[in-house]
Amino acid sequence: MSKVLIIGAGGVGRVVAFKCAQHPEVFSSIMLASRTKSKCDVIAADAKKATGHPDIQTAAVDAENVPELVQLIRNFNPVMVIHVALPYQDLTIMEACLETGVHYLDTANYEPKDEAKFEYSWQWAYHERFAEKGLLAVLGCGFDPGVTGVFTARAAKHHFDEIHYLDIVDCNAGDHGKAFATNFNPEINIREITQKGRYYENGQWVETEPHEIAQMVSYPNIGPKKSYLIYHEELESLVKHYPTIKRARFWMTFGDEYLTHLRVIQNIGMASIEPIHYQGMDIVPLQFLKAVLPDPGDLGENYTGETSIGCRIRGVKDGEERTYYIWNNCKHQDAFDETGTQGVSYTTGVPAMLGAMMMLTGEWTGKGVFNVEQFNPDPFLAKLGAVGLPWEEQFDGDLEL
Ligand code: NDP
Repeated sequence: MSKVLIIGAGGVGRVVAFKCAQHPEVFSSIMLASRTKSKCDVIAADAKKATGHPDIQTAAVDAENVPELVQLIRNFNPVMVIHVALPYQDLTIMEACLETGVHYLDTANYEPKDEAKFEYSWQWAYHERFAEKGLLAVLGCGFDPGVTGVFTARAAKHHFDEIHYLDIVDCNAGDHGKAFATNFNPEINIREITQKGRYYENGQWVETEPHEIAQMVSYPNIGPKKSYLIYHEELESLVKHYPTIKRARFWMTFGDEYLTHLRVIQNIGMASIEPIHYQGMDIVPLQFLKAVLPDPGDLGENYTGETSIGCRIRGVKDGEERTYYIWNNCKHQDAFDETGTQGVSYTTGVPAMLGAMMMLTGEWTGKGVFNVEQFNPDPFLAKLGAVGLPWEEQFDGDLEL
């Protein structure tokens, strides 16, 4: 029985609030706090109605303001913070957790606002400070990063002596009926997918032009989809924690229509994060674009189709080469029926809740800052299906990649 503070009331925050509320035996008291309290109030009312959880409170907080966070944490006195606001707030929330003696979990690595740079260095640098205070910080516990790391940990623990090749494949075969929309925060999403591609090979990072490398990949229950090599943050921690990996890549599907819109957005300068002066004020074009694009949290109602995300792994077991594929498929409509939002928010929010459950029930312990693959994957995967994301595995099939 624990008190938990959830920060962020977007699509992912909504799912985390619903999923925590479904488990009052673990999350006995929930506080949902975000910049705009009215959004928290709507989610809290919906989650109470859907689950009957008796104690979901709400608050306003600026998660970039450490004293404000500290005050909120001291007043509510939670055991941990589940941070599902934006990656810009990772460090301020970690600072507030250190100051108040509270554990921490997030789903995306820190990014400075003025540079689209994805690396764990800033958060790994907190390891000693969390360790000294006897606190645990779990980084990247969404789906990717998150479940993809746990899937890799399962492969390493049970199915391989050495992992040599890792390909993470992420397909969204959904249709939300809009000409252009992103499935999670548009600013963070567009920053991520317009950067150069990067993969790891033979001890080095190889850089590509954005979307330069693509190939058809077949996804279970979906079929072949054009998949693009992009950089994704879990590659950094996975090659560090599994040093036998010779090559690690990340593939994501994009439709032609989506890429055409993206190209236009970039060509006319709307993806820029450099502030421009307009009518007496400084505005960041990408932040303005976010304000006019559909809210990812509102895409769910007519969203059809499903996501499929997994790890395709080649390596050696007992001297023999073998292949392994482990994945989850999630239908947008099922996610919407349960939580009122679409599959991408759902596949992120469910693992965040489950990671928190692992911490609060003592399955995942430690002092310091850790990535998910550093914990025992078994208790997490034993529960993942029951909390909404069933997974499957296949041995010695054709990995295509
Ligand atoms: P949204 O944009 O829908 O929601 C973000 C929320 O954070 C909003 O409620 C927003 O408040 C709040 N927020 C922003 N700035 C602050 C601040 N300074 N103080 C307090 N609250 C703030 O994003 P999503 O729900 O789609 O995504 C949430 C997170 O999940 C992101 O970090 C994203 O990168 C991550 N993610 C991770 C994935 C994974 O698999 N690992 C996949 C998808 C997303 P307001 O409403 O006022 O704007």
